[in-house]
Amino acid sequence: MSLIGKTAVITGSNSGIGLGVARELARAGANVVLNSFTDNQEDHDLAQEIAREFNVDARYIQADMSKADECRALIEKAGACDILVNNAGIQHVSPIDEFPVEKWDAIIAINMTSAFHTTAAALPMMRKAGWGRVVNVASAHGLTASPFKSAYVAAKHGVVGMTKVVALETAKEPITANAICPGYVKTPLVEKQIPDTAKKYDMTEEEVIEKVILERQPSKEFATVEQIGGTAVFLCSDAAAQITGTTISVDGGWTAL
Ligand code: NAD
Repeated sequence: MSLIGKTAVITGSNSGIGLGVARELARAGANVVLNSFTDNQEDHDLAQEIAREFNVDARYIQADMSKADECRALIEKAGACDILVNNAGIQHVSPIDEFPVEKWDAIIAINMTSAFHTTAAALPMMRKAGWGRVVNVASAHGLTASPFKSAYVAAKHGVVGMTKVVALETAKEPITANAICPGYVKTPLVEKQIPDTAKKYDMTEEEVIEKVILERQPSKEFATVEQIGGTAVFLCSDAAAQITGTTISVDGGWTAL
C-alpha cells in the first residue's frame, strides 16, 4: 500500500490515536500534518521524528479544534489535504443533570463540529486533486451508549451521521468518507479515567481496567493505536475505494454483544 505523494491532515495528533494514525499513514508513504491546540517545541519535534523515521514531509500546525476559524485555517495552512483524519477529541464523565454546560459545549465543538469545518474546507481540495479520503475517528460510543457520557455519545453519534452525509455528497466522486469506531484503546484519554473510576468504585486500578473499562470489550484486550492507524491506511487503499458512508469497528467484539 503506497500513499506516496498524498498529504494527510490528522487533527489532535500530538498524542494517542491521532499520533498512531499519523505514524501509520507516514509508514505508508504519506506526508503528514500533525495538529493540536498547543505550540510547544515537543509538538514540532514529533513531526521531525516522523519525517526522519519514514522519509516523508511532516509538519506540526497549531490550531484549536474548538474554534471554527482555526479548524478551517488548519486545512488552508496545510495547503493540500488528500486524506483528512478527524480525530481530535476530549471526554467528560458526569450524570446529565450535573453535566457542566461548558464541558458539553467543548465536547460537541471539538469531537463533532470541528469535523464539519475541516471537511468543508478539505473537500474542495480533494475535488481539485481528483482523490480524497475522509476518515473520522468516532467510537463504539458512536454506535452504542454508556451512562454519564451524554456529550461524548451525542457527539460521536453525530460524527457517524455526518460521515454518511459526506459519503452521499461525494458518492459519484473518487472520494470516500468513513468512520472508525474504536472500543477502548489505552491512550492518555482513557488513562485519565482510571484513577477517578477506581475511587468511585473503591477498586484498584487493575480491577478498573478488567472489570469496568474492558467489561464491554469481549476480547478483554485494549485495541492499539497501530491497529487504528492500520485501519485508516486500509480505508485509504484502493481495496477500500467502494467502502463509503460506513463504520468499521475495532472494538474486540463490543458492538457484537
Ligand atoms: P488523547 O487524549 O491521547 O488524544 C486526543 C488528541 O486531541 C490529543 O492530541 C489532544 O491534544 C487533541 N486535542 C484535544 N483538544 C483539542 C483541541 N481543542 N484542538 C486540537 N486538538 C485537541 O486521546 P485518544 O484516546 O487518542 O483520542 C483520540 C480520538 O479517539 C478521540 O476522538 C476519541 O474520542 C477517540 N476514541 C478514543 C478511544 C480510546 O479508548 N482511547 C476509543 C474510541 C474513540
